[in-house]
Amino acid sequence: MRFVERPEAAVLAAAKDMLRRGLVEGTAGNISARREDGNLVITPSSVDYADMTLDDLVVVDRDGGVLQAADGRSPSTEMKLHLACYAAFDDIGSVIHSHPVWATMFAIAHQSIPACIDEFAVYCGGEIRCTEYAASGTPEVGSNAVKALEGRAAALIANHGLVAVGPRPDKVLHVTALVERTAQIVWGARALGGPVPIPEEVNAGFAGIYGYLRTNPM
Ligand SMILES: [Zn+2]
Repeated sequence: MRFVERPEAAVLAAAKDMLRRGLVEGTAGNISARREDGNLVITPSSVDYADMTLDDLVVVDRDGGVLQAADGRSPSTEMKLHLACYAAFDDIGSVIHSHPVWATMFAIAHQSIPACIDEFAVYCGGEIRCTEYAASGTPEVGSNAVKALEGRAAALIANHGLVAVGPRPDKVLHVTALVERTAQIVWGARALGGPVPIPEEVNAGFAGIYGYLRTNPM
């Protein structure tokens, strides 16, 4: 089971960075990390990232039971998505759910984001698939996401946003930003006639590197 060193500090730093990079607005989205004891640290619902402190973070067990929360703080309503990811993938230490504009455009169109930039597959494992639709807050959001995440670092949540997984919050935030930037670039490339695919064997090689790094993160 992968876990994150100093998970509280790592989650808070990534939350501030996510806001600074414009990947979320206000209180939307959420970040979690797995602790050495298997419990999870997650950002609370309805607290602005700009004002968030370590005390605001919530600790839950692997079933979502609250173990530690300051007065008035509760785990995000989207916590079930995080729980499903940790239950399915033992080799991840962090999950980030966000609503970045360009990636969400693809999520609304139910279109995958192709791995058409060199080395994209090194960081993401291949094209970023879109899940089947499930209403927010239902367990199916999690189970659908797990299917779309197989062998990948991220998946589009249909008609909603993005989820990304990896060893640590800073790495998962990097994937989130990379997917968002690629969605914007692909959209632009389509206006120019559409992206030219990278040869399959090249992307397969990149995906192999992703698979290696996933089990041996740096
Ligand atoms: Zn959401």
